[in-house]
Amino acid sequence: MERIYADNAATTRISDEVLAAMMPFLKENFANPSSYHSAGREVRVAIENARKKIASVIDCDAAEIYFTSGGTESDNWAIRGAARLSNGKKHIISSKIEHNAVLNTLKSLEKDGFEITYLDVDRNGFVSPESLEKAIRPDTALITVMFANNETGAVQPTDEIGKIAKKHGVLFHSDVVQAFGHLPINVKKTNIDMLSFSGHKFNGPKGVGGLYIKRGVMLPNLIYGGKQENGRRAGTENAAAIVGMGAAAEIAAKEMKTESARLETLREKLICGLLSGIDGCVRNTPEKNSLPGIANVSLPFAEGEALVLMLDLKGITASSGSACMSGTKDPSHVLTAMGLDEKTAHGAVRFSFDRYTTEKDADTILSVFPDIAKKLRDLSRI
Ligand SMILES: *Cc1c(COP(=O)(O)O)cnc(C)c1O
Repeated sequence: MERIYADNAATTRISDEVLAAMMPFLKENFANPSSYHSAGREVRVAIENARKKIASVIDCDAAEIYFTSGGTESDNWAIRGAARLSNGKKHIISSKIEHNAVLNTLKSLEKDGFEITYLDVDRNGFVSPESLEKAIRPDTALITVMFANNETGAVQPTDEIGKIAKKHGVLFHSDVVQAFGHLPINVKKTNIDMLSFSGHKFNGPKGVGGLYIKRGVMLPNLIYGGKQENGRRAGTENAAAIVGMGAAAEIAAKEMKTESARLETLREKLICGLLSGIDGCVRNTPEKNSLPGIANVSLPFAEGEALVLMLDLKGITASSGSACMSGTKDPSHVLTAMGLDEKTAHGAVRFSFDRYTTEKDADTILSVFPDIAKKLRDLSRI
């Protein structure tokens, strides 16, 4: 049975071209890029090349990109750094739909005396710029709102949020992990001060990511040690991973236009097919302003975990919208924030696509899923 991988929002497969670009840095080019010998300098050049490729994806200077171990570290750095930079200001504005890398970092700051406003979202999962502006106080140190949600794909009004942040002189961080390399982002136009990204969400390797820090933002270190990354993020560079992420960024930028159009077509074909093929199926991914590759639907009469297991048996790797991984039975905090009732939130399934997803994959999901839904519906009636 040929398996279909439709869990790309969790992680993507490393591209063949990316792996090929990495191999020399895992084998013969292993020297430390901080060394002065030619072998070290060669690695240094490759890292700086990758930095340029990454920078061009969001239209910033290469010197404003700092490599980290991934999206989680970047979120921690931006938020904890901004808190230490805050000059006694103790208020942060975020949203109820952030990734746990942001939410749990904020929780840790609550213990340090910070007060966090978690903005509500509407039925489609969007933060309202008006309520964000109303939430700003004289002691607001940071706004951190994600660019696009990892469960539903909802793309937030980041341009407006950036304008408001600038108008009030508040630092603005955005977790752009799901959108980086998938949607056009321009940090100059959007007034983002700090932006997190992660290699393994755009067909690069895991364990590598980065933080864009706008020139002039004096974010203190999260990691102390050597002088790497301009003295702002210590530790010997993961050269192979950085080179791989650079290659992945270059490919993503080149393919962005055609891939986003292609995936959006597949997404709509799948969602519309499921809505018409399954009685009671609910759409959680907004029709407009959403990531091209994420399709989230709910079957209120079924459990997301059961749906995922039955899809798995049919060779389809998908994800439930809820936090089943942690063993809890709590429904997704994102879908709950959107106002879904508990049954609907529990019945969520997310299919997420990437450059390796074919139209045939979407067709297969469409032909398999309604039968699974029917089985579970019949069971729920017994
Ligand atoms: C995956 C993800 C992260 C975490 O990134 P890692 O590189 O896995 O640490 C953070 N935020 C969002 C929105 C994500 O999708």
